[in-house]
Amino acid sequence: MKVLVRKQGCVGHARCAAAAPEVYKLDESGYIDFTEKEIPQDLEAQARRGARACPERIITIIGDGESA
Ligand code: SF4
Repeated sequence: MKVLVRKQGCVGHARCAAAAPEVYKLDESGYIDFTEKEIPQDLEAQARRGARACPERIITIIGDGESA
Protein backbone atom coordinates (compact mmCIF):
# COMPACT_ATOMS: atom_id res chain seq x y z
CA MET A 1 0.00 0.00 0.00
CA LYS A 2 1.11 3.50 -0.80
CA VAL A 3 -0.10 6.91 0.33
CA LEU A 4 -0.13 9.88 -2.03
CA VAL A 5 -0.56 13.41 -0.70
CA ARG A 6 -1.53 16.41 -2.81
CA LYS A 7 0.73 18.49 -0.67
CA GLN A 8 -0.12 21.88 -2.13
CA GLY A 9 -3.66 21.41 -0.77
CA CYS A 10 -2.48 20.94 2.81
CA VAL A 11 -3.71 23.64 5.17
CA GLY A 12 -1.85 22.33 8.19
CA HIS A 13 -4.51 21.48 10.75
CA ALA A 14 -2.69 18.24 11.59
CA ARG A 15 -5.70 15.95 11.84
CA CYS A 16 -3.86 13.31 9.82
CA ALA A 17 -1.00 13.30 12.32
CA ALA A 18 -3.39 13.22 15.28
CA ALA A 19 -5.18 10.17 13.87
CA ALA A 20 -2.05 8.38 12.66
CA PRO A 21 1.13 9.85 14.15
CA GLU A 22 3.40 7.08 12.91
CA VAL A 23 2.38 7.60 9.28
CA TYR A 24 1.72 11.30 8.82
CA LYS A 25 4.65 13.40 9.91
CA LEU A 26 4.46 17.16 9.73
CA ASP A 27 7.21 19.61 8.90
CA GLU A 28 8.29 22.38 11.26
CA SER A 29 5.51 24.62 9.91
CA GLY A 30 2.83 22.02 10.63
CA TYR A 31 2.25 20.88 7.06
CA ILE A 32 2.49 17.32 5.84
CA ASP A 33 6.11 16.56 4.97
CA PHE A 34 5.86 14.03 2.11
CA THR A 35 4.02 13.52 -1.17
CA GLU A 36 4.43 9.77 -1.48
CA LYS A 37 5.14 7.07 1.03
CA GLU A 38 5.25 3.28 1.08
CA ILE A 39 3.27 1.99 4.06
CA PRO A 40 4.37 -1.16 5.90
CA GLN A 41 1.63 -3.67 6.53
CA ASP A 42 1.44 -3.03 10.26
CA LEU A 43 0.66 0.65 9.66
CA GLU A 44 -1.98 0.22 6.96
CA ALA A 45 -4.98 0.58 9.27
CA GLN A 46 -3.46 3.71 10.75
CA ALA A 47 -2.72 5.10 7.27
CA ARG A 48 -6.37 4.63 6.28
CA ARG A 49 -7.57 6.28 9.48
CA GLY A 50 -5.33 9.28 8.89
CA ALA A 51 -6.46 9.64 5.28
CA ARG A 52 -10.09 9.69 6.40
CA ALA A 53 -9.27 12.31 9.02
CA CYS A 54 -8.02 14.85 6.47
CA PRO A 55 -10.87 17.33 5.83
CA GLU A 56 -9.16 18.59 2.69
CA ARG A 57 -9.29 15.09 1.17
CA ILE A 58 -5.76 15.39 -0.19
CA ILE A 59 -4.59 11.96 1.01
CA THR A 60 -5.10 9.09 -1.41
CA ILE A 61 -4.47 5.44 -0.63
CA ILE A 62 -3.38 3.28 -3.56
CA GLY A 63 -2.67 -0.40 -3.88
CA ASP A 64 -4.95 -1.20 -0.98
CA GLY A 65 -6.18 -4.78 -1.04
CA GLU A 66 -9.00 -4.08 1.38
CA SER A 67 -12.19 -2.33 0.38
CA ALA A 68 -12.52 -0.47 3.68
S1 SF4 B 1 -5.15 16.65 7.81
FE1 SF4 B 1 -4.79 17.05 5.60
S2 SF4 B 1 -4.70 19.24 5.40
FE2 SF4 B 1 -4.46 18.76 7.57
S3 SF4 B 1 -2.22 18.61 7.94
FE3 SF4 B 1 -2.93 16.57 7.42
S4 SF4 B 1 -2.68 16.42 5.18
FE4 SF4 B 1 -2.61 18.58 5.72
